[in-house]
Amino acid sequence: MHTPGHAVLNLWLLGNGAPSLPALPIIAGAIAPDVPIVILYLRERYLRGMPEERIWRESYQRPFWLNLIHGAHSLPLALVGALGGLALGSAELTAFFTSVFLHALADLPVHAEDAHRHFLPFSQYRFISPLSYWDVRYHARTVALVEAIGVCLAAVLLARDASTSARLLLASVGVWYLVNYGRSFLSTVWSSFRP
Ligand SMILES: [Zn+2]
Repeated sequence: MHTPGHAVLNLWLLGNGAPSLPALPIIAGAIAPDVPIVILYLRERYLRGMPEERIWRESYQRPFWLNLIHGAHSLPLALVGALGGLALGSAELTAFFTSVFLHALADLPVHAEDAHRHFLPFSQYRFISPLSYWDVRYHARTVALVEAIGVCLAAVLLARDASTSARLLLASVGVWYLVNYGRSFLSTVWSSFRP
């Protein structure tokens, strides 16, 4: 799933309980597993000027980055963190690691050839899903559309009780999904209509 979608979905799933978990650690936990990917991308793209396609084909595949990214998407490690938060009576730690856990869980069915090792450090197993949120060979147009609709729906539900600034942030996530979907999947459709 796309990173902004994790933040909105996790906030909706975890922030509405009674008692509700604190919002900032939920957002931080929803974003944290993808932070190494963002750092890698920004470094290679803007500091080294590497073409996007080469970043994913070469840099992303280096063991250091794969271990870091897969470790950040580990279900057992996130579970230990959430249980540790509960044991310590810390709502912040519990919210953060439960959010990390949900992020990893949501990624599991939508990563095909780029599947993470979600069961580190106990297993190197990768579930190669028949679905992908970005790879068109694995139904990405449909999967990304379902993701976008789900995230926008959660954003609308969250916006009902949100402040004006939070509503603006939620709206910006919706706009980002719209732009990203067009850029990723519709540009090829448009170009195919050209003579
Ligand atoms: Zn992720």
